[in-house]
Amino acid sequence: MRAVKKGWIGMAGLVGCLLAVWAGQAIQEKQIPAMKFNDVVEMAPGVFFRYSSISATDMSIPFGGCNNTWIVFKDFVVVIDANFPKEAEDVLAAIRKTTDKPIRFVLDTHHHGDHAYGNTVWAREGAKVVGHVNCSRLLATNGPRQWDEAAKDRKDIASNKLKTVDIAFDDSHVIDDGTQRVEFHHLGHAHTAGDAVAWLPRHRILCTGDACVNGAFNYMGQSNSASWVNALDRMLKFDPEVVVPGHGKPSAARQLIGLQRRYFADTRAAVKKGIEAGQKLEEITTAIDMPWYKEWTGKDAAKIPENIAHVFKELTGKIDHKTLGSASQPGTMGPYSTESVTRVAGR
Ligand SMILES: [Zn+2]
Repeated sequence: MRAVKKGWIGMAGLVGCLLAVWAGQAIQEKQIPAMKFNDVVEMAPGVFFRYSSISATDMSIPFGGCNNTWIVFKDFVVVIDANFPKEAEDVLAAIRKTTDKPIRFVLDTHHHGDHAYGNTVWAREGAKVVGHVNCSRLLATNGPRQWDEAAKDRKDIASNKLKTVDIAFDDSHVIDDGTQRVEFHHLGHAHTAGDAVAWLPRHRILCTGDACVNGAFNYMGQSNSASWVNALDRMLKFDPEVVVPGHGKPSAARQLIGLQRRYFADTRAAVKKGIEAGQKLEEITTAIDMPWYKEWTGKDAAKIPENIAHVFKELTGKIDHKTLGSASQPGTMGPYSTESVTRVAGR
C-alpha cells in the first residue's frame, strides 16, 4: 500500500489548465496526474480517491475492480461503490490510513459485481448500502443466481454472501452534515437501468460509476444507448469540474463526458446509416471508423463488436429495454444472466 498523496487539492486549477490544453484535442495521458494502481490521493479536503488497475489494451494488467472515492464527513465516512469483496477489503485498508471514523454508507452506482458485490464487506463494517430502486431490484431478483455464477470464478465471492441494498431511492438521495454534502442521482437508464452518480457540489466532483468511463471500458449489454446520451447531457448540467469515472483515470469533466457521449452518438449514427443503406451487422462493424476514439482509448471502436451489435439490435427493435431492468414489476424482467455474469467475471 502506498502512502496517501496529498496535494491534488489544486485539481480545479489543474483542470482549468488541462481544459485549455485539451481544447479540441484528444486527452494526453501524460497531462493527467500520474497514478498507479492502489494509489490514493486527496482530491479535495476530505475527499479521497483510489485508482484501480485496468487497461483496455494491455491484458497483462490485472483487473482490480472499480475506482473508489470516499468522503470524510464530521462523524462518518461515505464510500462510493462497493467494489468486489476482495478489493473492498483493500479499499477499507486504504480508508483506514486516512480516517478512523465509522463507514456509515456505501453507494452502489449499479448492480454489477465490481461495484456491488463488496456490499457484504461494508455491511460488516456497519455501513448501510444505498442504491437506485432498479439497482436494488436487480440485486434482489437476479442477484442470487448471478452471484452463484460469479462465485465459480472468484474465491472472494464464493466465501461471502450477496448483500442487497438497504436504502433504495427513486430520483435522488442526499447526505449532508454541514461539513460535506454528497448527492446521489439517478439520471436515467444508461449503463444499466439502475445507474446512480454521486455529485459533490462543494468540490464540483462527479463520480459517475460506469455511466462514464475513461477508456475502452464500456460494456453495453444492459444499456439503453439513446437514454445513455441523455444521461451524459444531464451530467453536464451539474457543471462539474472533475469526473471520477468507474474505470480509468479522473479527468476534466467536460472533456471526458464529451468523449463518452460522442462514442454512443457516433456509434448510433453509424449503425443507423448502415441499416438505412441495407447493410448487414458485419458490414457495418467493419466499416466503423472512429480515429478519435482510438486516440482517446488506444483501441479501435470496431474492435468492440459486441457494442455495435447491441446498438444494431436496439435500432432494429430487437431489444425491449424493459427486459434490461426498467420494468416496474420485478416479475417482468427478462433473463439476461449470461451478459451479467460476463460482466462480473470481466469488466
Ligand atoms: Zn464496472
